[in-house]
Amino acid sequence: MKVGLVYDPIYLEHDTGDHVENSRRLVEAMSYLKEAGIEEKLTCLPPRPALVEELEMIHTPEYISYVKSKAEKGGGWLDPDTVMSPKSYEAALYAAGGLLVAVEEVMKGKVDNGFALVRPPGHHAMRDRAMGFCIFNNLAIAAKFALSKFNLNRVLIADFDVHHGNGTQDAFYSDPQVLYFSTHQYPFYPGTGWMDETGMGEGEGTTVNFPMAAGWGDGEYLRAFNEVLVPLARRFQPQLILVSAGFDAHWADHMAMMRVSVKGFAQMEMILKELAAELCQGRLVFTLEGGYNLRVVSSSIKAVFDVLLGNSEIDDPVGEAEVRKLEGFDEHIEAIKGIHHIR
Ligand SMILES: [Zn+2]
Repeated sequence: MKVGLVYDPIYLEHDTGDHVENSRRLVEAMSYLKEAGIEEKLTCLPPRPALVEELEMIHTPEYISYVKSKAEKGGGWLDPDTVMSPKSYEAALYAAGGLLVAVEEVMKGKVDNGFALVRPPGHHAMRDRAMGFCIFNNLAIAAKFALSKFNLNRVLIADFDVHHGNGTQDAFYSDPQVLYFSTHQYPFYPGTGWMDETGMGEGEGTTVNFPMAAGWGDGEYLRAFNEVLVPLARRFQPQLILVSAGFDAHWADHMAMMRVSVKGFAQMEMILKELAAELCQGRLVFTLEGGYNLRVVSSSIKAVFDVLLGNSEIDDPVGEAEVRKLEGFDEHIEAIKGIHHIR
């Protein structure tokens, strides 16, 4: 198995100071991969900056030039949560471009699959504005790029970050070529992502939201994947699977209130890998979104690589959440299955 790693020190130059989304997330993850002897088993894919025309597949020219000029003026706040430094525009170009390189190398068969360890993250970024620590929607741009450059007709995006990927949903809400599946705490930031948001027009049915009540964990997530994502992916027949991997649904991440473990994430990633093998010649690209507990982020990133490399042992140094019996999940999943006509 040839597994690609996209990383570049430019991602550390998006300097957010003591913001929770800061460069230590990647510094610690990279040193953890090195210590664990994982990095040497990976194929390094150096990123390139995305072209402005590529960003324009998702973002308005006015917004792109606003971000560029803001960086030239020294940076500052783009929205109440999202801060920029002088190098953030360049880092953001390389974050989007990193995904493009990963998609290109997977499509050409240079690697079997890959993981882009980029910052800033992307899934909240809207067409004309930054949101929730995100500047450009890296994965949405990559999906558009895959559809146009490789003449694909069907791309599946799975997003298990604890927050709803409102930017990604918005980009493809009426697009039947992209199936967007998201699990996220609800109600929660950014406020969107209830189960009745299912797409519109030709895209009706290709947006699949699986909101999660605070406190649910591995068991509920795995049922969402096995009982909703798997049948819908088989129905959709993707030619490529892209994954917004955020690790903020972990029980030890204080950004949110979910109870997923590192092993739970690994089981979801295993399902995605099996779907890719079954449906699209293994073509699978992950990108980093959120995740703010540094120990959780490092060990979860390593677990993604263990899954991609086919290592059967998954270390979980953080451990599992205490088991709690929570009510209401059966009715909830049945409602979602009903909306999406799953048996
Ligand atoms: Zn998040």
